Formats: sequence, C-alpha cells, structure tokens
Amino acid sequence: MRPDELHERHRAVLPAWLSLYYEKPIELVRGEGFRVWDSEGNEYLDFFGGIVTTISGHAVPEIVEAVKEQAQRILHSSTLYLIESQVRLAEKLISLSPISGEQKVFFVGSGSEANEAALLFATQYRGSSEVIALRGSYHGGSFGTMGITGQSSWRPTPRTALDVSYALPPHRSYSPLYARYDDPEELARACAEDVRSLIQTSTTGRVAAFIAEPIQGVGGFIELPPAYLSRVKEILDEHGVLFVSDEVQTAFGRTGSHFWGIEHSGVEPDLITMAKGLGNGLAIGAVMGRAEIIDALSPKLHISTFGGNPISTAGALANLEYILENDLQKNADEVGGYLKERLLALAREHRCVGEVRGRGLMLAIELVRDGAPDPRAATAFMEACRERGVLVGKGGLAGNAIRISPPLTVTREAAGEAARVFDEALSSVEAGERVV
Ligand code: PMP
Repeated sequence: MRPDELHERHRAVLPAWLSLYYEKPIELVRGEGFRVWDSEGNEYLDFFGGIVTTISGHAVPEIVEAVKEQAQRILHSSTLYLIESQVRLAEKLISLSPISGEQKVFFVGSGSEANEAALLFATQYRGSSEVIALRGSYHGGSFGTMGITGQSSWRPTPRTALDVSYALPPHRSYSPLYARYDDPEELARACAEDVRSLIQTSTTGRVAAFIAEPIQGVGGFIELPPAYLSRVKEILDEHGVLFVSDEVQTAFGRTGSHFWGIEHSGVEPDLITMAKGLGNGLAIGAVMGRAEIIDALSPKLHISTFGGNPISTAGALANLEYILENDLQKNADEVGGYLKERLLALAREHRCVGEVRGRGLMLAIELVRDGAPDPRAATAFMEACRERGVLVGKGGLAGNAIRISPPLTVTREAAGEAARVFDEALSSVEAGERVV
C-alpha cells in the first residue's frame, strides 16, 4: 500500500490523538543492525531505536532463531504452567541485579504494567497508598501510572489510583528558582531536601515508595545526578520509604558506564522495573526486587496472562545473552562517549543548541531560541534529519529535546555519520529553512 493511502486509512480507524512523527509519516518495513528501511526503499540510521527499545539491533539472527524455534513449538501457554525460559530469564536477571539479598521477578507485558505491579507490591508491603514521584517523569499510560507521571500532556485525568506527591528534580528547566544555584551539587542537595519536606508536610508520613527514572526518558533525557539520588536514598531510609527505579529506558547497558541506570549513583533500589530493551522489541516487562516485597501480595492472587509467556521470555533470554556476549555496554560507553563529544562540539557551533546531555547511548540535544525552548525547531530538525537518512526522537516538557538512542551495536563510523547529519540539520534549522 502507498504511504499516503496507508496514512489516510490510519487516520480513519485509529485515534486522532495518536500522533505520528513527520509531515509524511514513515512505514518501517525492515531492519538490520542499526539500519532500517521504509516501504519506499529509503534507508535510515535508526537513532531512536523504537523509543529506546532496540538494544541489540534489528533482526539479530540469535534472537530471531529463539523466537522462531519457540513459535514452532508452542506460542502461548498460560503462566499457570511451568515455563523453562521464564525461570531462566528470572535467574539471569537476578544474577545481573544491583539489588542485594533474596530476589524475585514478576513478568508482565509492558512498562506500564511493570510500574503498576511494582507499586502494587510496594503499597501492600508498606500498608500505605502514598507515593512520591518526580515532576517531568513518565511512568506509563495505565490509570495507576498516569497518576505518577509528572507531565500534564500525558495526563488526561486528574484521578489517580494512588496518593501522589510530586518532588522537584534537580534540573534547571524545572524552576526559575533554580537560577540562584550555580553549583549543580548544591541544587541536587536542595532538591533532595524537598523530598524530606514533602514527606513531612504533604503526606501522612507513612509513604510507600519513591519512584524515579535514573534518566528521565520522555522528559527529555534528564539525568538525576548521583549526589541527588544518594541523598534522597538516605532520606527515604530514614522514613522507611521504598525506592523504585524505573529502568524501562535506562537498563541493559544503555547508559554505557553501568548495566542499570541507577548504578551510576551507587544507590541500591528495592525494586527495579524494566520493559522495552528487555525484549529488544518483543512485548515484555518485569519487576525485579527484594523477595519479601514482591511476596507481600500473598495470600491475594495476581496474574498476567501474557506476562512471562514462552515466546517473549525465550526472545528476551536470547537478547540478554547477546548483550552480554558482545559486551554491548562497553560499545555504548565508547561510541556514546564519542558521540557526546561530537554533540558538545555542535553545541559550541550552533546557537540553537541550549544543552547537550545524557550518558552512553541515551543522549539529548535541547533546542532553544533566545534562551527559551523551541519545539518548532525540534520538529524542523527531525524533518531535516529524516531527509538526510537519520531517525531520531523528540521529548521534553516543551517538546524541544531531541532524543538520540541508537541500538547499542552502533559503530563509531555510523555515529560520526549521524553527527555530520545533525550538523547540517542544525544549520538548516538556524537558516529557518524548514521551520514550520
Ligand atoms: N516507564 C518509562 C520510563 C517509559 O519510558 C515508558 C514508555 N515510554 C513506560 C514506563 C511505559 O512503558 P509502556 O509504554 O511499555 O507501557
């Protein structure tokens, strides 16, 4: 089907708020490694990786084979039966976990469900429905997770399943009050104290959990500094509050220096949620953490029909083995470090770049005009990159952050090629060529 016809039919039967990237939306029909092809045969460097999902690259033979082999045997058996790949995957994840002591894993079908489940366990364990989340966070699209998402554009309703208080993350884009802090460490400490103040003033004092993404993903790749996270953890410990690390975007070596995003802070969370990269594109999510918290749900019953199904767990296991055997984390660190240098050089040359940030292969360029967020420039930048064969993502509260998250297999040469395209795209944005 021609792309324009497909777009028309898409509009007729899919919701209007389901917005697609690009003036002329793309249909991706094939992928290989860090490259993808659309239905018209155009080739692209995939520098968004299906919203930070593709870790091992597209069409990895080992993963394809595992999925195929499983599909030929049995596609789905209820999780009421024993499933070997499920047990193996849980064991493998626990062996890689930054959490100490006895642990368990509960499998679900998506990131939203993983966060729902984590908060279900935490609230049961603590006997409290109160949760602290961060402004600018994104934790999912279910009722519970919309309620802990700190971005109004993703919140169609004020109703929440939990009693939520929002803390201020230590990034200058959140408050003009931050202007008085020259030292990022000082800002981090002040924001951590805000968590203490929230517990003392805006809750009953018995809070179940604090949930945060080590790098806010949809929020525009905003990193929570180690000084902030470690201070927050001390405060949470003083009040018995659990720490849930939402690693839906930051796990599996994405951030380069560590396997899990939270590790760069040295903080040990109580629960970790994951999805996206776990299945490298397959629909799977999980909560991993302290066994006593997850077991706190007993004697109630809880199940996910598709959670931990044979095909997703076989594929995820093959993916995890591929990540480890090929040391993709090391590649993310090296190529990510190189790409960040190139982006920082671009920031010095182009006045429309307000900030370059991120770690490993989770990097962002914030576009500004006269010091203010410029979402139109972000749209124009994306179109200019697409024309030149590179796909990137968008995010941030104002929609002005460009998100760069290629598969972790990406080479230095491809990163250099993308950087050259970014340079041209920034020049075209500045020349106002494509501002729409
Ligand atoms: N947490 C984070 C950090 C995410 O980025 C997302 C998805 N963008 C989710 C949770 C929700 O995941 P899903 O869309 O698979 O439900």
